[in-house]
Amino acid sequence: MTCKEAERLVIPYIHHQLDDDTMSEFLEHIEVCPNCKEELEIYYTVEAGIRQLDKDTGHYNIKGDMEADLQASRQRLHGIHVLDVARYAADTLIVISVAMMLVLQARIWWQCGIF
Ligand SMILES: [Zn+2]
Repeated sequence: MTCKEAERLVIPYIHHQLDDDTMSEFLEHIEVCPNCKEELEIYYTVEAGIRQLDKDTGHYNIKGDMEADLQASRQRLHGIHVLDVARYAADTLIVISVAMMLVLQARIWWQCGIF
């Protein structure tokens, strides 16, 4: 992902509008690119500041909130990855089971003299 693409995704990220694949690429870029991370911090600060002024909560740890948001996004992607791996494992077991059933059935037919 280029810096230009990442900068375009800052606002959709803050508004939780990115799909999982795009969010994954965006987070990977943010990890390694200080310029884009700074861009995210600026927009996040403005957005969060406006939100908190509206609510008037008196809570102003915006950088901490952003890090918590990034951490939650990473955990969400990790959870999705774990589910994907589990699904692939289950699919593989199903295919192996069906193949074994066919082999055993063919053996039964062969023993009965059908083949
Ligand atoms: Zn960048």
